[in-house]
Amino acid sequence: MNLQEAKRYCPHCRRLFDGPKCPDCKSRRTPPRDPQNGDICFLTEQAQIWSEPLRDVLSQNGIPCEMEGRLGSGISTLVGYSQESYRFFVPYECLPTACDLVEQLFGGKYEQEQEEAQEDTPEQEEE
Ligand SMILES: [Zn+2]
Repeated sequence: MNLQEAKRYCPHCRRLFDGPKCPDCKSRRTPPRDPQNGDICFLTEQAQIWSEPLRDVLSQNGIPCEMEGRLGSGISTLVGYSQESYRFFVPYECLPTACDLVEQLFGGKYEQEQEEAQEDTPEQEEE
C-alpha cells in the first residue's frame, strides 16, 4: 500500500484507499473521509503462523493492534486452524511504522511469492 496515495478512509471497512470510493464496500454505507490520528486502519492479513510474530513485533515497537480472525466466532480460539488468518488493524498514526515492520518481517516472503507467481504465468511466444 502506498500511504502517500491513500488519502481516504472508509470508516465502515476501516481501511485506507485511493480513489473516489472504497474498493470494498463502494462507500454505499459510509461516506469516506480524511483519515485522522486514532482511526483504526487495516494493515495486513496474515496466516495464523505469521500472526504471532507480527503481533510480537508490533508490540515491541509500541504499536497497539487489533486482530480479527477471518473465520470469525470464538471457535478459532479453541481449535488450531492452520487455515485461519488474521486481519491486523493499527491506529492511523502508527500505520507508516507498522507498514515498515510488515515489510521487514514479510518482505522476503512476498518476493518469493511474486517470483513463484511469475513462473506460473504462461509465456507468450511470438511466432
Ligand atoms: Zn468500505
